[in-house]
Amino acid sequence: MSDCEVAVGSEEPAESPRQNGHHAMSSHEVVLLLETDPRRGLSTDEAARRLERYGPNLLPAAGGGGFLRRALRQFHNPLIYVLMAAAVITAFLHEYVDASVIFGVVLVNAVVGYVQESKAEAALDSLRSMVRTEARVVRAGQERMIASEELVPGDLIVLEAGDKVPADLRLVRLAELRVDESALTGESVPVTKDEAELPEVTAVSDRRNMVYSGTLVTAGSGAGIAVATGTETELGQIHRLVGAADNLATPLTSKLAWFSKVLTVAILVLAAMTFGVGVLRGQDATETFTAAIALAVGAIPEGLPAAVTVTLAIGVTRMARRRAVIRRLPAIETLGSTTVICSDKTGTLTENQMTVRVLWTPDGEFSVTGSGYRPDGEICGPSGAMADEATSESLRWTLLAGAGCNDARVREENGEWFITGDPTEGAMLVVAGKGGIDRDRLDNTLPRTATIPFSSERQYMATLHREPDSGREIVLAKGSVEQIVAMCRTEMSGDGTTRPLDAEAALRCAEALSSQGLRVLATAVRRDGESGDFNEDHLPGTLTLTGLQAMLDPPRSAAAPAVRACHDAGIGVKMITGDHVATATAIATHLAILGDDQQGRVLTGRDLQTLPAERFPETVDRATVFARVSPEQKLRLVETLQRRGHVVAVTGDGVNDAPALRQANIGIAMARSGTEVAKDAADMVLTDDDFATIEAAVEEGRGVFDNLIKFIVWTLPTNLGEGLVIFVAIVLGATLPLLPTQILWINMTTAVLLGLMLAFEPKESGIMRRPPRDPRRPLLTGALVARIALVAALLVAGAWLLFEWEQRRGAGVAEARTAALNLFVVVEMLYLFSCRSLVHSAWRIGFFTNRWVLGGVLLQAVAQLAITYLPAMNSIFDTAPIGGDVWLRIFAVGAAAAAVVALDKRLRRNLV
Ligand code: ADP
Ligand code: MG
Repeated sequence: MSDCEVAVGSEEPAESPRQNGHHAMSSHEVVLLLETDPRRGLSTDEAARRLERYGPNLLPAAGGGGFLRRALRQFHNPLIYVLMAAAVITAFLHEYVDASVIFGVVLVNAVVGYVQESKAEAALDSLRSMVRTEARVVRAGQERMIASEELVPGDLIVLEAGDKVPADLRLVRLAELRVDESALTGESVPVTKDEAELPEVTAVSDRRNMVYSGTLVTAGSGAGIAVATGTETELGQIHRLVGAADNLATPLTSKLAWFSKVLTVAILVLAAMTFGVGVLRGQDATETFTAAIALAVGAIPEGLPAAVTVTLAIGVTRMARRRAVIRRLPAIETLGSTTVICSDKTGTLTENQMTVRVLWTPDGEFSVTGSGYRPDGEICGPSGAMADEATSESLRWTLLAGAGCNDARVREENGEWFITGDPTEGAMLVVAGKGGIDRDRLDNTLPRTATIPFSSERQYMATLHREPDSGREIVLAKGSVEQIVAMCRTEMSGDGTTRPLDAEAALRCAEALSSQGLRVLATAVRRDGESGDFNEDHLPGTLTLTGLQAMLDPPRSAAAPAVRACHDAGIGVKMITGDHVATATAIATHLAILGDDQQGRVLTGRDLQTLPAERFPETVDRATVFARVSPEQKLRLVETLQRRGHVVAVTGDGVNDAPALRQANIGIAMARSGTEVAKDAADMVLTDDDFATIEAAVEEGRGVFDNLIKFIVWTLPTNLGEGLVIFVAIVLGATLPLLPTQILWINMTTAVLLGLMLAFEPKESGIMRRPPRDPRRPLLTGALVARIALVAALLVAGAWLLFEWEQRRGAGVAEARTAALNLFVVVEMLYLFSCRSLVHSAWRIGFFTNRWVLGGVLLQAVAQLAITYLPAMNSIFDTAPIGGDVWLRIFAVGAAAAAVVALDKRLRRNLV
């Protein structure tokens, strides 16, 4: 016990309270050790002091393993190896200037790569902080949500199904708590926890009275004392050992990495052959070798990796601005290929702002006024007169069951009313308030003693209460109408007596209310006062139906246009919900998810069960509304759609949605209403929970992919052209029109100043009016490959033409080379404008619509003037000043080439 004074006492230097024995202590000992209170938690002041002392509950940002490792990684690339080898050999040939230039390029390349990678990671990190993790903590006797980074050792933390454990905790209370510890142990079967003390030697995976940071609560609830936070947690220890994984790789980047490996080998073989041919022909070995190096460095697309990273990073940022946070980078690419979006109804297509509008009891219907969560409004009886509590016992019990069997809270802040917890439950609290039933008072008059929590499979929630004076026990239940009615044998009449249940009447009424788009829940009670078994098996058949609560949850205003946009873009929209089929149908019709032809497009969970296996895939593909669907069925739907060749995006919020989210090509979780478990499984998180955001993300995803293709289509002709120019020179045994250093100059400056600017290109206008990209299709279509070859050919022809022309006119080799070099850059500049759109002409999109491109072109022009006219540059790069007439010829040839490209684009517009 003396340890604790050192660890938590106030004078000693900050020292961690971490020690391994917490599982071997009773929870009482842990409370003493950490100087906390098992009911009231820490005081606010003490928590602040400890935060100061132990620091925030954070793990260090997922960096790429420190400066040196990240810097060295920039050189780990086959293309760079070739360049470095070339530089070393060039130095051996005493061509020191050339060797330094090549080294310079390698360095510049590494610096650009380093900066880009850091930026991209910083962007991803800042996104992570946008989706803030919160924890439920008790401080000074009050339960509240705080950012989990503010947790300190000694905090009393409350856990519920769906939470991510925010720190290492010694459990002090629990109810059927099950935890998925795969993040820590790799074991994916959830572990059942209990409170008992364990022997000192118990392995981490067997410490059932502890829960560890980063693991997921899959069922039950509990509370525990934080014994370690931040890097002191078990997860923090592992994190320190392993470092962060490389999370910047996507299918596209790995495809490109493969491409550049193949390219390197091809280039090396070609360069070796060139050298061999030259030497066999009796040409000077040094000169031939220079030529071979020029070929190699020219053909290598140095800018490609950086451009891809930049484009993806810009895409991530753009999506975040539209409230879609990417958690896994590959999702950006997949988004553009999405063919089906399976969306929840509640909260995604609707506002999740529930207001009870109609209350039904076996003896009459009541309407409710008022809107939002403000408990101002009236409950009006069938005659229109205001109904007070006394008018109907069944009404009173309906409100009571709704309010008592409830975990939500309503609170007022600056005149506005908010709820914490499930909006469905919030609405029931509010309507109870309108009927004069106060939740806080209820906690005293009818305290809860046990709970069967709500789950999507169970479709109901039930609570056991005990009247303090009489000791009488009462069960309150609420849930889907079908489920509750099936569990009732009797119903309550207006005077409070019970009579046999008229299930027909209740179901008929629920149907009528649902088809108006209302969400209907039923309530039931058991008042016999006996403390019979309170569990799932014994409840059915013992309940008395008290009534129905029908609530309005208006469709989101942005949802209908977003659904239409998806349809235009060739993307199917399916609604998957646990709600009643009539409610789902009404909302889906309103949003045009369901057209006029409704035949066979609406399926219920029961339909899915009874559907013969051979008809299942086709029927599912055709249907657009799935009601009363369980999470397992959701998973099966996703798998079926994928087997039919769909790229599926799926939303989910609960613990049980995690498998479907993982299975989906893009799992989407909701930042506001989703559980931590769902967010953890998702590829993308919507910060506003809105369906329209998914559509926006798809649009951005398509834009990102376009921009990547544009860069590739722009950059490859240069490399191909340069390689060919050299190859032709060697085959003809002619003087090189471009030197290796000049080629490097072209590659580096144009990639950074021109090509990268394509990453900032806005989306094309018709981007959501074309079908989704087939992910199996090759990156470049035939028409684009042909365009790359055409531009390369034009570059080769133009460069040779000018090089020969200038020499015939009597110019020196340096001047002729300067002309060829400038031609390359001019053609690339003009081609850049063409590449801003893959289909439309440069005229059509306008020359001034991307300011980055204009700025880049200006900078490039300055760079060209520098390399042409500055004496220092002339001597480094072996260039020479050229006259105005040479420029005229350069521009004439360049314009001719641009015209040919424009013509080609026009003729093959439909093939891209
Ligand atoms: P959804 O929210 O899309 O309707 P769920 O699977 O979450 O789907 O819920 C299924 C059904 O269970 C709901 O339609 C409703 O009738 C009922 N239900 C929803 N939330 C609760 C709750 N907190 N307590 C009891 N029953 C609920
Ligand atoms: Mg729900």
